[in-house]
Amino acid sequence: MKRREFTKSSLILGMSLMAGPANSGPSRSHNLSGDYYEEPGKKLPARKFDVVVAGGGTAGVVAAIAASRQGAKTVLIEMKGYPGGTVTEGGTTLHSFFNIWKPFPGVKKRQVVRGIPNEIMGRLDKVGGWCGFGDMKSGKRDSTNTVIDTELYKLVTFEMLVEAGVYVCVNTLLVGAIMDGSRVRGVIAESRAGREVFYAKSFVDCTAYGDLSTFAGADYTEPNDYQVANAFGMGNVDIDKIFKYLADRDGIREHAVGRRSGVVDMTIRVQGNFAVMPDGFQEEAKNIGLQSATTTIHDNYLMFVKSNLKMPVSPTDRDAVSKAELELRQRQLKTLELFRKYFPGCEKAFIARTAPRLNIRRGRLITCDYDITNEDVVDARHFDDDVFVYSYHDVGLYMVKNGGTYGIPYRALCPKGIENLLVAGMLITSDKMAHMSTRNTVNCMGQGQAAGTAAALCAFKNKGIRDLKYGDLRGALVKGGVYFES
Ligand SMILES: Cc1cc2nc3c(=O)[nH]c(=O)nc-3n(C[C@H](O)[C@H](O)[C@H](O)COP(=O)(O)OP(=O)(O)OC[C@H]3O[C@@H](n4cnc5c(N)ncnc54)[C@H](O)[C@@H]3O)c2cc1C
Repeated sequence: MKRREFTKSSLILGMSLMAGPANSGPSRSHNLSGDYYEEPGKKLPARKFDVVVAGGGTAGVVAAIAASRQGAKTVLIEMKGYPGGTVTEGGTTLHSFFNIWKPFPGVKKRQVVRGIPNEIMGRLDKVGGWCGFGDMKSGKRDSTNTVIDTELYKLVTFEMLVEAGVYVCVNTLLVGAIMDGSRVRGVIAESRAGREVFYAKSFVDCTAYGDLSTFAGADYTEPNDYQVANAFGMGNVDIDKIFKYLADRDGIREHAVGRRSGVVDMTIRVQGNFAVMPDGFQEEAKNIGLQSATTTIHDNYLMFVKSNLKMPVSPTDRDAVSKAELELRQRQLKTLELFRKYFPGCEKAFIARTAPRLNIRRGRLITCDYDITNEDVVDARHFDDDVFVYSYHDVGLYMVKNGGTYGIPYRALCPKGIENLLVAGMLITSDKMAHMSTRNTVNCMGQGQAAGTAAALCAFKNKGIRDLKYGDLRGALVKGGVYFES
């Protein structure tokens, strides 16, 4: 069924039934046999919350903490056994808590994303789990370079969720939405404890692919315009030797320093120029889509090494994803062999950690009341409903004007046509270049704090997301440590 047909029919279904059943969402598997089985109805156990946050990843962790700190009875539903999401599995560096001041002489450095995302960094600091706000020595896309210990990130965010009073359901998959017209009444989730319902007044979709929004009948697009990756950690390596090898050949594109194994001013990021490598390396690197940036905060360890793969179809196609998962693991071994053969200090390297599943930079994009454009980003535009500000753009060509910031408007987090659902994370923004800014980890976290706070306020006041007074939201965000510029 085409997206629009699906959306239309699910809305009609929801409206005609009123308080109707969960809709099945878009088809996720090929039915080659043409056979069907009609599932019998079942009575499910149900619980009531003020706020449901779906997906405990980069944005969802922050959304759930924010909602619960407002006093809302909050449940977080996460399908993996830990919180953290793609920030612990995909990226190399957390872009970016600061404005990009270095390319703009005279512009001062300032921290533009604060609040809960900054608190997480503080907690990581206490357990030796980050590099500090590292310093970019070369490369102009970012001015700072923040690297985290991905395993400790999972732990400290889990602890922060519990301390904030969030009811955390890990290993729990959200599989449906219960609609009452254009209002989400509840969600259906599955775990080894069975199938159950969570009712709430407000909902936040932080599933990256917009699972909850699509179950609720929201409109979406699916550009499938990125490669997928399974970034892995490589042990028994010497980043200083890799850096020297590349630097001796004038092959450094980006270099950053920060705290590594407790020592300051150490190399924590290297992005090489593979054109300086021997032909054999270049050829194989191209075949496996090897990316040249890596980061670390530990000696003898590269946190993220990735080879990319372009899938012929959407990463929501289960069977195509199964093939890609195997191919990516084969590419990991080829990557390891390349490092062992060509980089000094990597002769006895090994694969130390892989992601539990492949990642992509954008899957489904949920259509919201406002779609942020690249002009909004580069022209440093602010809106009368800004919920935080941001400065980083992943394409160096498109820096935010004068080292400044742009605002993320509340409207950009409101899925069209749904009364009580907000979204946060990589699932917003359909403009590809603007998405190069809004999808970055720290931006997703900022969105999470805004969406979680708004969901809690709406739940208290029994209001739809569009009836919330901006002044109330902004006041709560400022209290929560969020920084604004206009
Ligand atoms: C390969 C790669 C490299 C990147 N590099 C960088 C970088 O260097 N710097 C940077 O800042 N950004 C980078 N990004 C972008 C950034 O990491 C992501 O855009 C961001 O982390 C996405 O956050 P999110 O909260 O939207 O999704 P996620 O962090 O993926 O969180 C979604 C969560 O929802 C859960 N979930 C999904 N569906 C369900 C369901 N039905 N039920 C229950 N749980 C569910 C998932 O398990 C996950 O935990 C990169 C992305 C990729 C893929």
